[in-house]
Amino acid sequence: MNEMQAWFHNSQSQMASELESLCNICSGSDHLPGLLNVASWLKQYLADLEWESREYNLPTWSVVDDSGVRTEQQTHKALRWDWDGEQTTNATPRMLMSIHYDTVYGVNSPFQKCTRFSVDGDERMRGPGVIDAKGGIVVMKWALLGAMKFLDKKRLRISVILTPDEEIGSPATKSLWQAVAPEFSFAMLYEPTLPDGSFVSERKGTGTFTVIVHGKAAHAGRNFDAGRNAILHASKIAVAINELNGVHKGVTVNIGRIRGGDAVNVVPDLCVMRVNVRVTNAMEQKWIEAEMARIQKEWDKPELGFRVEVEGGIFAQPKTIDDSVMPWIKRTEAVAKSIGESVLWKPSGGASDGNKLAALGLPNVDTFGPEGDLLHSDQEWVRLSSLPRKAHLSCKMLQSMFE
Ligand SMILES: [Zn+2]
Repeated sequence: MNEMQAWFHNSQSQMASELESLCNICSGSDHLPGLLNVASWLKQYLADLEWESREYNLPTWSVVDDSGVRTEQQTHKALRWDWDGEQTTNATPRMLMSIHYDTVYGVNSPFQKCTRFSVDGDERMRGPGVIDAKGGIVVMKWALLGAMKFLDKKRLRISVILTPDEEIGSPATKSLWQAVAPEFSFAMLYEPTLPDGSFVSERKGTGTFTVIVHGKAAHAGRNFDAGRNAILHASKIAVAINELNGVHKGVTVNIGRIRGGDAVNVVPDLCVMRVNVRVTNAMEQKWIEAEMARIQKEWDKPELGFRVEVEGGIFAQPKTIDDSVMPWIKRTEAVAKSIGESVLWKPSGGASDGNKLAALGLPNVDTFGPEGDLLHSDQEWVRLSSLPRKAHLSCKMLQSMFE
């Protein structure tokens, strides 16, 4: 084992205890006080690097709730740190390292604290965000500590950006990505690997359509015929939308949630339905957008007393492997191989900010985070030995880019 590898190896228990502290602070995407707490924790955590830091206020966005009421939502800030070594110039490529600090576990989730366990001698930690994606934050931090210690820091040109809204589709960070993506040559994102250690290659695109159906309320006994039942109309639309499944191999459409009605003796005048879609390429994205527009048109029947609105859409474009990312995939493989890490690649149905950055023309590999499994459930766990291994891998990647 060389000096760098030994240094990472010996950091495992400290990395694990830092990760435990970070995961024990709730930062569900909709829990603003928690996001604020985690952001201040992170500002201290990254302060060791002594890099220049700044923060971005992010814009609000509007959502329609289950009662058809539109409200403005907000999240916390995006955090940024920059290092421009003395020997770099504006022509030196700048690397982006990024991941989100929100989780899917809100303040009312029973899953709030970490516990340790082991399986056949494999030390693991279960906890909210241990791999998605707070484990990635710890891996990134240690990769950078290693880089500042072992690499020629005069030659490094790196930015770190941590964001608060990835788990809800990055509605607030979207404009920040558009603004900063052109600054970078390549991005390393710290989503977890697949459970067997594979990196993710392609990712499906995803989005949510909200279908809002307005009918007409009426007394179910005295005035039934005067009513226009929004739930019934929405149900027919749901059947029409479901028929989009199976037309193109890569497209799935899931009627995930439907809300409407209150007292059973009233004909319901409103129904709000949410539809999650997945697509594998730009053609399929265009197709599903056109089909949803067609369905809105066909079922919007003011002459019969029904109004239908459709909003939302694809928020993460499909991420495909193209010529711009191929050299980075090859480089990742070569570096991983040189230190005995997995070099397998597999596609994933889930989207990440890697989809958005790729759509903005920034090539990226988005699974430099740790190994583990069962993310988005109360069994989410991380393999503790992967924390130093993955930090080592990232540090070697930086070495390959800048030395
Ligand atoms: Zn996630």
